Amino acid sequence: MTRVPTSMRASVLQKIEDIAVEQRPVPEPGPHEVLVRVSAVGTCGSDTHYYERGRIGDFVVREPLILGHEASGTIVALGSEVRDHEVGSRVSLEPGVPCLSCHECRSGRYNLCPDVRFFATPPIDGAFCEYVTLHEQFVYPVPDELSDEAAAMIEPLSVAVWACRKARISPGARVLVTGAGPVGLLAAQTARVFGATEVVITDVTDHRLRTAAELGVTETVNVRHRPLPEVDYEADVLLECSGNPTAATEAVRSVGRAGRVVFVGLGGDELLLPLSHVQTREIEVTGTFRYANTWPTAIALAASGAVELDSLVTHRFELERVPEALTAAARDDTVVKPVVYPQR
Ligand SMILES: [Zn+2]
Ligand SMILES: [Zn+2]
Repeated sequence: MTRVPTSMRASVLQKIEDIAVEQRPVPEPGPHEVLVRVSAVGTCGSDTHYYERGRIGDFVVREPLILGHEASGTIVALGSEVRDHEVGSRVSLEPGVPCLSCHECRSGRYNLCPDVRFFATPPIDGAFCEYVTLHEQFVYPVPDELSDEAAAMIEPLSVAVWACRKARISPGARVLVTGAGPVGLLAAQTARVFGATEVVITDVTDHRLRTAAELGVTETVNVRHRPLPEVDYEADVLLECSGNPTAATEAVRSVGRAGRVVFVGLGGDELLLPLSHVQTREIEVTGTFRYANTWPTAIALAASGAVELDSLVTHRFELERVPEALTAAARDDTVVKPVVYPQR
């Protein structure tokens, strides 16, 4: 059995643009929790947002907070009531634990639970640290085919799976994905797996679009040089992953009759919706908030090779360099997904 120390290193956000590695006690698993030694943690736009602005909407960082919610690791201890897990098993972590008893939870929409405790969302600590505890039902063993990085990226892949389910992508669908960041690249791949025969992706950087082309999208459009209205494309589904209100408004106009629009990207609070375009075509418009019941699907897609995760990991950082990891994408076009390794 692995010896578990009593204290660990944790990367703690103290206040805006101030992160330092501190010693923290290793958490004790509750009766239905497991203790996980964290292997790899992807960085996400929301982590960067908390680091740079100290808040996302109503969630405000008031006390020191550990960021990071895309995590994988190895189980090192079990709570007293845990029967379905083993010490030593490699796992992917679903970072939000809902109450499991409210109306939303009982309706199967646990992502909408008002009492969810989600990693790296104030006041709940995340995974940029050596050990975390998590409820046993939100810890998923992964097969050997999945690297530690891929097991961490089951989280953003879950965002993509949830978006494709919400969009009801079916065989033969024509899908437009706006934004070729990590979520856009995963949404595009997942749309193919759901049966889309055309997947057009837009971005403003050629490097990201080249990555998308390598991952099997059917057409890439750099909207800096070729604005969408000039492309004259009609989609059945828009997966909006850019978070850019102007790009989103333009893209809605590319959706055809009885199409679906899903807002996946975090963007501004408001955007202009071309309402007559939406009305006369009976376009459905919805948003997604995280995901529900996606881990088994996402793990199977990654393990079978249907979705490629490893090549999206472009930059690697140890715990001391979390601030660099969080700002890498803004500095460098070639950054897709920076990953932090808490054990290094
Ligand atoms: Zn994320
Ligand atoms: Zn609930």
